[in-house]
Amino acid sequence: MSEPTWGERYAGSLMNTFGPPKTTLVRGQGAHVWDADGKEYVDFLGGIAVNALGHAHPALVEAVSTQMSTLGHISNFFASEPQVELAEKLLSLLGAPGKVFFTNSGAEANEAAFKLTRRTGRTHVVAAEGGFHGRTMGALALTSKEAYRAPFEPLPGDVTFVPYGDQDALAAAVTDRTAAILLEPIQGEAGVVMPPDGYLATARAIADEHGALLWFDEVQTGVGRTGRWFAHETSGVTPDIVTLAKGLAGGFPIGACIGVGAAGAMLEPGNHGTTFGGNPVACAAALAVIATIESEHLLEHVTVLGQKLRDGLAADPRVTEVRGEGLLVGLDLSAPVSAHVAAAAMAHGFIINNPTPGRIRLAPPLVLTTDDVDALLAAWPAILDDAMAAGS
Ligand SMILES: *Cc1c(COP(=O)(O)O)cnc(C)c1O
Repeated sequence: MSEPTWGERYAGSLMNTFGPPKTTLVRGQGAHVWDADGKEYVDFLGGIAVNALGHAHPALVEAVSTQMSTLGHISNFFASEPQVELAEKLLSLLGAPGKVFFTNSGAEANEAAFKLTRRTGRTHVVAAEGGFHGRTMGALALTSKEAYRAPFEPLPGDVTFVPYGDQDALAAAVTDRTAAILLEPIQGEAGVVMPPDGYLATARAIADEHGALLWFDEVQTGVGRTGRWFAHETSGVTPDIVTLAKGLAGGFPIGACIGVGAAGAMLEPGNHGTTFGGNPVACAAALAVIATIESEHLLEHVTVLGQKLRDGLAADPRVTEVRGEGLLVGLDLSAPVSAHVAAAAMAHGFIINNPTPGRIRLAPPLVLTTDDVDALLAAWPAILDDAMAAGS
């Protein structure tokens, strides 16, 4: 009898919610990871837009280790210095007065925001088709995808879904009983879908007309991913709520619900809580991520490298469209073979993601190097050759 593999032990001990794992990873450095067989990959997914500083970045290792050996966890009966510093830093990056509630994940940040919207005295929320907001019952209620929702109905109600980017549909759906409009500034899970010019500003105007809150889910797009601290910055819009998570602490679990202005005071003592949210280690990790993005000038780096990546990927005629900003990149293929493209990429030593049958998404670490991009672009035609052959 041979020893069972990690894959077999996984299948025997973990709930089958994610399907079989592609491989077992054991180590990472920068944008590179190694599996249990010693095979090296360039990680163009970054733990799904999470590993902002890549793997094993010394600044993150140092911040987490030092905080853990100083003060690892306290309850929310007490304040900690990293928590206060991080809240102040996020508000200063946002450039608006407000208040922050820390969580452990994106779904929980959206749960906090969802509860906050109920404090308007209204219950109706307008969200977008193709949007993704998480898997808890509340976050799922705000997510349109039927396959995710159907097994768990009934979900919290009074949510209207409108086509993303359609200003008329948004105007028609929002009324004086709408508590909030919820939008991603760029839809990540849908395969990196950009809004038309002016859409976010129109959403602001529609929300104002009806006294509704405007809530941007920046769980995937926030904290430098698009070459800006927040993807919505270029819209000129100030939202009432911003939710963050994925890249915020570079892989340490954290989420944040930011209430801007009056929205920051709507959750009152007793309205909400969390045991782990805002713990000192997670906040120290996030402060290290933000400080490193600043000191290594990663916003500029991400902007330049993202453009090079998009241009290179688009050069192949089997790519029909490339979208995105910074290092959040989505592309459409001429055939619905994205699963074959992801598999072929793995064989060539690259981790990429296939969110829909015809679409590929890349969300690599912000510390990705030009050499990493050159390596993917050099292999790209062969990856597509292999995928098209496998898919025909
Ligand atoms: C990933 C994601 C979430 C959910 O975050 P979790 O940490 O998985 O709960 C919510 N919103 C958006 C836009 C996301 O990309």
